[in-house]
Amino acid sequence: MRLGRLATRDGVVFAAIEGESGAETAREIAEHPFGTPTFTGRTWPLADVRVLAPILATKVICIGKNYAAHAAEMGTEAPADPVIFMKPNTAIIGPEAPIVRPPSSDRVDYEGELAVVIGRPCKDVRAGDAAASILGYTVANDVTARDQQKIDGQWTRAKGYDTFCPLGPWIDTDFDPSDAVIRTELIGLDGQTTVKQQSRTSLMLHSVGEIVEWVSRVMTLLPGDVILTGTPEGIGPMVAGERVSVTIEGLGTLSNPVVDK
Ligand code: MG
Repeated sequence: MRLGRLATRDGVVFAAIEGESGAETAREIAEHPFGTPTFTGRTWPLADVRVLAPILATKVICIGKNYAAHAAEMGTEAPADPVIFMKPNTAIIGPEAPIVRPPSSDRVDYEGELAVVIGRPCKDVRAGDAAASILGYTVANDVTARDQQKIDGQWTRAKGYDTFCPLGPWIDTDFDPSDAVIRTELIGLDGQTTVKQQSRTSLMLHSVGEIVEWVSRVMTLLPGDVILTGTPEGIGPMVAGERVSVTIEGLGTLSNPVVDK
């Protein structure tokens, strides 16, 4: 099932997104999407509503350097154990919402990533049992003020600006994360589309199960919490007027314009 969060004329709702691309229907879910959803009977053509970030997380945990080729392009060794950091939940935006470059940074980068959405409260989850704690998967962009990441030595400021965590377009509860193509495209000021990142999730150094085990050993995970699983090689800057799209095949495309504050 594809779970979305939508702005309709009647308010913000969770919905199941059904049907073929370009002709989808949104079927309203009563209350929240966790457990076994129940439906209100209201539906909308997806084209008639605005797609929001699919979940409002209490926290966003991110994995650094989870692809060897990205660790290499950063001039570092890939760490033996996962490196984790956090983004504030106030950084979350949905599809088509603008990524706002702060005037304090001269270099704001895209990082296309697979995101895990937690489905129930959990702590000390074993990797082999992780699937039972996962609601599903969505697409993320770990937007980063690269210059500030280097200056600060830790990453809270560089990763934490409002709008620096695009998520969407929906949560797929049936997605298999083991070997999907992940691709980041940038539409430049000249209108040309360039593929900037292209890799496969099978090249992640730490699997989704291992990541959930590692993170949940530290902190209790709550329903809706999001874990970004790291970006492959090909990172680079975005400027105002460009548009960035992250696609995970079989899951969806997350597209956002870029503006200056
Ligand atoms: Mg990242």
